Amino acid sequence: MLLRHTPKEIVERKSLTVNPAKTCQPIGAMYASLGIHGCLPHSHGSQGCYAYHRSTLTRHYKEPVMAATSSFTEGASVFGGQANLLQAMDNIFTIYNPDVIAVHTTCLSETIGDDVPQIFGKAKTDGKIPEGKYVFHASTPSYVGTHVTGFANMTKAMVDYFAKQNGHKENRINIIPGWVEPSDMKEIKRITGELGIDFIMFPDTDNVLNSPQTGKFEMYPKGGVTIDELISTGSSSGTVALGGLASGPAAKALDSKCKVPCKILDLPIGIKATDRFVDTLRKMAGVNVPESINIERGQLVDIVTDMQAYFYHKKVALVGDPDQLVALTEFLVSIDMMPIHILTGTKDKKFEKKILSLTEEMPHDVNVKSGGDMYLFHQWVKNEPVDLLIGNSYVKYIARDEDIPFIRYGFPILDRIGHSYFPMVCYRGAMRFLEKILDALMNRIDRDSSEIEFDLVM
Ligand code: SF4
Repeated sequence: MLLRHTPKEIVERKSLTVNPAKTCQPIGAMYASLGIHGCLPHSHGSQGCYAYHRSTLTRHYKEPVMAATSSFTEGASVFGGQANLLQAMDNIFTIYNPDVIAVHTTCLSETIGDDVPQIFGKAKTDGKIPEGKYVFHASTPSYVGTHVTGFANMTKAMVDYFAKQNGHKENRINIIPGWVEPSDMKEIKRITGELGIDFIMFPDTDNVLNSPQTGKFEMYPKGGVTIDELISTGSSSGTVALGGLASGPAAKALDSKCKVPCKILDLPIGIKATDRFVDTLRKMAGVNVPESINIERGQLVDIVTDMQAYFYHKKVALVGDPDQLVALTEFLVSIDMMPIHILTGTKDKKFEKKILSLTEEMPHDVNVKSGGDMYLFHQWVKNEPVDLLIGNSYVKYIARDEDIPFIRYGFPILDRIGHSYFPMVCYRGAMRFLEKILDALMNRIDRDSSEIEFDLVM
């Protein structure tokens, strides 16, 4: 009973967060930066911030996350971080030789008010940026927003710094996948490839944070979008952005900077959202959907049909990031489950409205909150228990205390593996989601069955 002090009674809180359902902006910025080939993320702040960002990503992906820091001490806190960043760029290009350094700011450098573009200008004048190498930055103060905002800001910075028009439109689509796992990015690329579409995905952490063990350390793994490809995004014929909060700002920036029209969709989690994704690609690229994709979809529908008795009206509580939760809620409602507690730690003005509209036909009231915390989420679960919990590793404490089946999904997952290698998006990912849901629910049925009820065939 590690959370035994959580009371059932819910009291209005305005200035106190207990067990946040979010992490800080630079973690998202660092993750997005790792989706560029040959990029070294750089944290412009103190070593403590940088250690936290790196270790959270390393623990989630079980891969060494390479990054650098401006290593602020008292001097930089008083006089600003220009000298530290100039020295850092010199050291990084000399010692680690990346193609590009992606600088994100922290609470401290933002509070000091460091002007990073001006520091880049000075570095250029002083000859600290070698020919053919790049630096770019995103502003990621963590006293506003969350890891999702940081991811969105860094992805938008890729457009702001690099995208260029080349005078004509290429028959090619940009895909901004949102904050999903490397395995999800691989699956989105596979589906797009099956449709026969030429595309650029950015950021792309496939083959970076799920790379194979070869016995040899690679500072810059094979994957990631290249800078040349980022430049070319400005001459693509269209952009498909997945997840409005994580990918929308970059897609809109590309539209206004280079006149590349965009479609902003939900993450392709579940049948309906994947249908919309495939249909948008089909229309945008003018291609036909091949039989291979129809077969995958049919298999997914077959699983839902076969197992619908186990899904029917099961109550679920979800906590995570807004883009994921919106798509997941739609998926669960579509298979007759009842997501009744839905909470995100990220503030998103549209979140609550979207969830309420997705669940309006459900025969049950819904608790929904953006900018909430795990404490409130636990209180909801205590007041109305559910059949299944879905969320990141921190939910394991609630699952244990309340004895509720639990699926790990979202960020961070610190105590299991699989998320980097097996997708949860598109039709095949949805099949895996259903497998996980059924495993959790049916294991509980088996555990709670009497000897007479304990069935071999379910
Ligand atoms: S919240 Fe701010 S101070 Fe804390 S780790 Fe993140 S960037 Fe650093």
